[in-house]
Amino acid sequence: MADADRRRIAYVLPVYNEEENIGVFHAALVEATKARPDLDFEFVYVDDGSRDASLERLVELRGLDSRVSVVQFSRNFGHQLAVTAGLDLVARAGDADAVIVMDTDLQDPPRVSLEMIERWEDGVDVVYAQRRTRKDTPFKRATAWGFYWVLDRLASIEIPRNVGDFRLMDARVVAEVARYREHDRFLRGIVAHVGFRQEALLFDRDERHAGETGYPLRKMLNFAASGILGFSTTPLKMISRFGFAISAFSLLLGCYVLYVRLFRPDESVPGWAFLGVGMFMLSGIQLIMMGVIGSYLGRVYVEAQDRPLYTLAMVARDASPDGSAGP
Ligand code: UDP
Ligand code: MG
Repeated sequence: MADADRRRIAYVLPVYNEEENIGVFHAALVEATKARPDLDFEFVYVDDGSRDASLERLVELRGLDSRVSVVQFSRNFGHQLAVTAGLDLVARAGDADAVIVMDTDLQDPPRVSLEMIERWEDGVDVVYAQRRTRKDTPFKRATAWGFYWVLDRLASIEIPRNVGDFRLMDARVVAEVARYREHDRFLRGIVAHVGFRQEALLFDRDERHAGETGYPLRKMLNFAASGILGFSTTPLKMISRFGFAISAFSLLLGCYVLYVRLFRPDESVPGWAFLGVGMFMLSGIQLIMMGVIGSYLGRVYVEAQDRPLYTLAMVARDASPDGSAGP
């Protein structure tokens, strides 16, 4: 079909109850991609167990446009897994040179994805869309700000702020992301963890075209927890810090009791001080011990995530005797 040196871009498009948006979205996307007749495009729609007619719309689209692929989940697995399934599909096929992930509610403008392609052609491996403005409620903005504040402080790697999953990834990044198999997924963190040359592209996020958000507060909180817990074991370590603080307090109290006993023979030690020493000391020791268990648990957790140890960007060495290059 396409000749060999044409580059191929695959779009991964998660869909959950978007029947009113799909038609408009696809038309807008196809229109935008017409600006690049030199590239081949594939549109991979992943239906995340929609309860409306989204799937029928997608199958119709496929009937009209053979570049459309459709994957259907058996139930709603959530946005992060829908995107993962699309990425896996493209990684397995191995024929795309770059992948663009975007929402199908027209909040991520298709023309921005074309700008991403230009940046990628300049040699950037990951181009992530960063919101210059967001048309969200003050509540959502405030919670998002708080979330990134905490994440910045706790996470072991730097995860950019005000960035969703709207991004372009070079094929080698997609292949790496496919090696991260943790169940509780925070994709933007995983992509940051993979490395390579990553740059932000500023854009103004639009309002949802129709329908309603598939991310109610409960899902947002779960998602925030995956981000923090997936990239940090600091909360576990905080237990022992707290334990040390309480132990220090009991030590001070102990000094006070001793002082009264030794140097003020005519006064008696108040009962609360005596009890306090024991109580604070015991609970401090308990917390420190729990923190010790927490540190081991943190290690078990990191091992259980079973992430790749490192990612090579390049290997320059003479071919091994069996002809394969490098380790
Ligand atoms: N989505 C999905 N599964 C879900 C929720 C959402 O695949 O369980 C898709 C949805 O169709 C959209 C994208 O993920 O393309 C972003 O979802 P949404 O617009 O609801 O989130 P928001 O923009 O409000 O954060
Ligand atoms: Mg949206």
